Amino acid sequence: MIVRAMGTRGSVTVCRPDVARYGGNTTSWEIMSSRVSSKSRIVVDAGTGFYEFGSRLIREQGPDAVEDLNLLFTHYHNDHVNGLSMCPLMFVNSIKKHLFGPVDMDSHNLPFGPLAALEQEFSIPRFPVTAEKIREAISCVDVSPPEISPDEVVCFYSNKRTSIKHSIYRRIIKGELKQIEFGDTQLDPDKILFARTFRCVHPQVTLAYRFEEYDRDMNLESAFVLLTDYEAQVQVPADLAAFLRGANLLAVDCQYSMNKYRQCAGFGHGNPRWVAAILKATDIERVGTIHHDPNASDEHVEAIRDEVIEFARQKGVNLKEREVFAIGDFQKFDV
Ligand SMILES: [Zn+2]
Ligand SMILES: [Zn+2]
Repeated sequence: MIVRAMGTRGSVTVCRPDVARYGGNTTSWEIMSSRVSSKSRIVVDAGTGFYEFGSRLIREQGPDAVEDLNLLFTHYHNDHVNGLSMCPLMFVNSIKKHLFGPVDMDSHNLPFGPLAALEQEFSIPRFPVTAEKIREAISCVDVSPPEISPDEVVCFYSNKRTSIKHSIYRRIIKGELKQIEFGDTQLDPDKILFARTFRCVHPQVTLAYRFEEYDRDMNLESAFVLLTDYEAQVQVPADLAAFLRGANLLAVDCQYSMNKYRQCAGFGHGNPRWVAAILKATDIERVGTIHHDPNASDEHVEAIRDEVIEFARQKGVNLKEREVFAIGDFQKFDV
């Protein structure tokens, strides 16, 4: 699996000389798996990094390079949707768009999911093209977080997708179920890219994503976790530790230095002591910080990374086999 950070800035897009190294685009990630057709793209979140993703793709490969766009949302805060309406992929009707995301309640107590997010971004007078105009090309699937309905695991194969109950997924990884019902066919689990979710600690309903590939004997081959927009905790809850364990790469919200966190506690973001606690509680070898504060210069982003390393040392984490770094826009990882 290869994953690419298209946007690693938190809260708002920035453009200044002192952020040139890590970049200023808001959250968006591309997930590439040999199990999924190269014409079927998987993207998490549509911050301004999504605009870059789409415009590069169209510029370099043309509109026919994509047949399906699977867009998974962590949540609908502005910095995770503000690249949606300007992304050229949204205007290519031949590209089928499959939207996934949690369902929250809006201020009128009405359900708010991916389609509502899309309608809000494409609404007059905020934008001249309305969602109705592009809706024909969209099929919408809601992924509900565990708290409000039984959790689900999204499965991708070739140019197809389906979702299964978490209980079924558990039987599959235990080897009790040898095949997965995928439309009208049955597939071996080693052909599937699994996407699991976990409910984050954040002001609105927010999901973390874990992408996994298993081999024929159901050994975990590779796993990537995107844990963005998660409020720093003192300890790592056992269920989160279980969700993270075994991942080859973790991208984790570490927006604030400890100093800044004192003013920003409760805003729903991470700090170095929290990321160090994750290093202590898990075995993840590569941990990268994301959701960089818009005020943070490149030097500041690196100072926050160094704070993580210092806290990890204090907690007795052996960093010889571990890598802790700050992730920048357009960085690619072989997972
Ligand atoms: Zn955010
Ligand atoms: Zn948020």
